[in-house]
Amino acid sequence: MRVSADRERCVGSGQCELLAPDVFEVDDDGAVRVLVPEPGEEERDAVRDAVAQCPTGALAVSG
Ligand code: SF4
Repeated sequence: MRVSADRERCVGSGQCELLAPDVFEVDDDGAVRVLVPEPGEEERDAVRDAVAQCPTGALAVSG
């Protein structure tokens, strides 16, 4: 699984950080940062939830 984020679309709402705090962080600029671009199997469900619940569609996964 590979995770990407479009910081231009992110509004800093923080759902992704709440759902997968080991993978996503909202930085001091108020935009998401992907901490672990290739998270392991144990993060898969949390990352998929985060992608689904992002209000702006800023997150994507592949693989
Ligand atoms: S859920 Fe989406 S809009 Fe909210 S901080 Fe994460 S990437 Fe940004």
